[in-house]
Order: sequence, then structure tokens, then C-alpha cells
Amino acid sequence: MNHKLTVVIIEDEKNICAFIETTLANHDYKAISAYTAKDGISCIASNCPDVVLLDLGLPDMDGIQVIREVREFSSVPILVISARTEESEKVNALDAGADDYITKPFGTSELLARIRTALRHSQTSSSRGSGSVYRSGDLEIDFDKRLVTIGGQEIHLTQIEYKLVSLLALNAGRVLTYDFIINHIWGPYADSNNQILRVNMAHIRRKMEENPADPKYISTEIGVGYRMREPDA
Ligand code: CA
Repeated sequence: MNHKLTVVIIEDEKNICAFIETTLANHDYKAISAYTAKDGISCIASNCPDVVLLDLGLPDMDGIQVIREVREFSSVPILVISARTEESEKVNALDAGADDYITKPFGTSELLARIRTALRHSQTSSSRGSGSVYRSGDLEIDFDKRLVTIGGQEIHLTQIEYKLVSLLALNAGRVLTYDFIINHIWGPYADSNNQILRVNMAHIRRKMEENPADPKYISTEIGVGYRMREPDA
């Protein structure tokens, strides 16, 4: 019964490492810190952690390169720790294979929530078959029936709108980049201009959200992409 979930932290700022280590230890995780990219990668290879927290600004290697190297041998969820202003870096990290990011400075509850989301996603994405239903508040998506309802009322979506909503719902809690979404919905040869995506998202919000300017279900991560609300437990 004593199998603790293991988190590897790759971060050169030792005070941030110490803060994260204490937080995780208090919540029954096992935390291992590495202060360089090189140590971090070998730490992942030898410990097979359940989650990796990765700072992008490391002394010996670009964080994006770390993600690529880890992805050669592991599908462990990677949460990037990034500074507030680095939108393009977040996008590059996600496109390189990171699962999500958390922006400095962050608090304990945000950190723990992101870790839980990453864990849940890695556990469910392999086992999720058809016949599942996404539920969050009044919103329900039945993937078999391709049916979206809010408070029991059917929401009429076009084919593309449904594809967008279900892609986000299957990845609920995670941010999906504009390029990732465009690739999935319109294919790899699509124009990577976000306009068509923004137009569709505006239509979806008008149909689904009580207040489209302050969306409850699908939030915009400015400069990065969209994130669908976590499903109810
Ligand atoms: Ca750093």
C-alpha cells in the first residue's frame, strides 16, 4: 500500500525546488529534485516517475530539448514551469510533447491541481474507450451518441463544432495549442492561421455559454490555446 507517486523536479532555482519538495512531501508524494537538465534526464530514466515538473530555463540545456529527449524514451506527463511572459515558449513546449504548464509564481493548490490533472490524464487516456460520457456542471457530452446537452437541453453543433468540443473534452483540464487543434480538426495541410478556429470557437461559445465573454466551460489561454474545464469527479 505504500507506493507513493513519484515526481521529478528539474529546476535550477534551489528555493523553488525546496518549496515544491515540501509541498509534495506534505501531500504524500515522493519528490526528487535535479538542478540541471542532464541530471534530470538521467533521474527520469532511473526513477520512472509518475510526473515531471520541468523549468525551461536551465543552465546546461534548453528545456524544449529536454522534452524532446525525454519523449524518446518516456511518455511520463511533463508539466512545464514557465515565466508569465513566455507565451511562445509555452506553445513550443506543448508542441514538443509537454502536457501542460504552470506559470510562476504559483501557489500550492494550483500546483497540486495541475499534478492531479496530469496524473488523471495519463491514467485515463490509455484506458478510455468508447461509451464514455464527459460531465462538468450542467454540460454533458455523450461520445457514442455525439450528443451535447446543457441542463438536459440539446445543443445543436455543426460537424466541425462537435469535433472541436469533443477534442477539448477528451483532453479536459489540459491546454491544447492552436496548432494542435487545427492539425487535429483540419489536418496537417490546413492553413495554420487561427482565424477559422476563432470563428468556430465564437459560434460554440454563443451556443454553449451563458456569457460568451466570460466562458464557463472552455477558457482561452491567451497566445497559447484553449482549455476545457475538468470533468466532475
Ligand atoms: Ca531556471
